[in-house]
Amino acid sequence: MGITIMPVGGYGEVGRNMTAIRVDDEVVILDMGIHVGNYIAFTEDEDLKNIKTSELKAAKAIPNDEIIKSWRKDVKAIIPTHAHLDHIAAIPFMAGKYNCPIIASPFTIALLKTNLDIENIHLPNKFKSVNVNATVKISDHLKVEFINVTHSTPQSVMVALHTKYGIIIYANDFKFDLTPTLGKKVNFERLRELGKSKKVLCLIAECLYSNEAIKMPSENVAKEMLKEVLLGTDNKGKAVIVTTFSSHIARLKSIIEIGKKMKRKVVFLGRSLSKYVQAAESVKIVNFSKQIEIVKYSSKIRKRLGKVKEKDRAKYLFVVTGHQGEPKATLSKIAHNDIRFKLRNGDHVVFSSKTIPTEENRKSKEVLCDKLRQQGVRIFDDIHISGHAGKEDLRDLISLVNPKMIIPSHGERKMEEGTLKLALEMGYEKEDIKMIKNGQKVKVV
Ligand SMILES: [Zn+2]
Repeated sequence: MGITIMPVGGYGEVGRNMTAIRVDDEVVILDMGIHVGNYIAFTEDEDLKNIKTSELKAAKAIPNDEIIKSWRKDVKAIIPTHAHLDHIAAIPFMAGKYNCPIIASPFTIALLKTNLDIENIHLPNKFKSVNVNATVKISDHLKVEFINVTHSTPQSVMVALHTKYGIIIYANDFKFDLTPTLGKKVNFERLRELGKSKKVLCLIAECLYSNEAIKMPSENVAKEMLKEVLLGTDNKGKAVIVTTFSSHIARLKSIIEIGKKMKRKVVFLGRSLSKYVQAAESVKIVNFSKQIEIVKYSSKIRKRLGKVKEKDRAKYLFVVTGHQGEPKATLSKIAHNDIRFKLRNGDHVVFSSKTIPTEENRKSKEVLCDKLRQQGVRIFDDIHISGHAGKEDLRDLISLVNPKMIIPSHGERKMEEGTLKLALEMGYEKEDIKMIKNGQKVKVV
């Protein structure tokens, strides 16, 4: 009896996040994601595919939940914290065998449902939307609180699991943005309250940038960076194409606002962009469709770009998929002239993104950029601010919630060590910081 935390995926690695917390004879699962790199390497695509779960597990594309097989019947809820693939995308493959609801913020649920609908997958689980900053009772003994935080997709939450022994806080992923460009501010008051209660037994927190002595800048800074390249450079008469993360609704909103200032018509091109916008509109976070044109399928994208007259190229701001250089995405197709839209000398391509550092991505991005340069295109790279916590965001979180124990998550060993160093600086003892691998459970009380 007591509380045991089982790291199922995403410990000692970046991706396929999944954590199970056992409180007496009940279990809560936090996140159920894919390892994007391993998934794409195995399936050659980021879309949901009809592939055997066992094969995906063997390819380390999804978490290996066999390690909690004996806990399966006791699972009371699956709680994805936000809509990123490394937190939700294993749900279609794995959630069905757990006899429990999937509980998440409205945007996360909307996106999950959209994905399942597209692939015609029916899960037996019930879906339950819970607003940010609300609490839901999942059994007579357990309550789950969604604390609003800022990240790079809407309605991301930190989860506080309230038990009779105390509180466990799960902070994957977040940054402390004081001036978000979309959505609510971080609920600092609540975090402070939880810290003051002295009941926080354990904090599980991302450690991706724990070695970087920064406080992650606001999304507002990314907006200013975009303004500089879109409004502050000479693009008169030139085609301008921007590419970014489809799940980053706040960034897309900034691009639309700047597009209006440029007096260009904003057109979104790509299936993934359309999917995330549809989910965001369905829960009334934004209303892009009224302001811009969205073209979903590649056959229609071809037609749409083919219709753009030579003299009208500078009347548009195109927003496309393919910021990592993905060969099948719209940007690569444009660069390789697979679409009847000819790039000209001096056209602008803006990457409002950062290349996720895998060998595969680096290669694809290089191929794409070479192709763009051959056509005389001006490339603006790294016009981006991350949605993850820097070392100083982490320090603030630890000070606020005052946990007895810290488990670094969502990072490789050297990143976990960053959290350890920080905690030691803050006066923690080494044994209070648990650096664990997948499968290595920790008894909290
Ligand atoms: Zn995330």
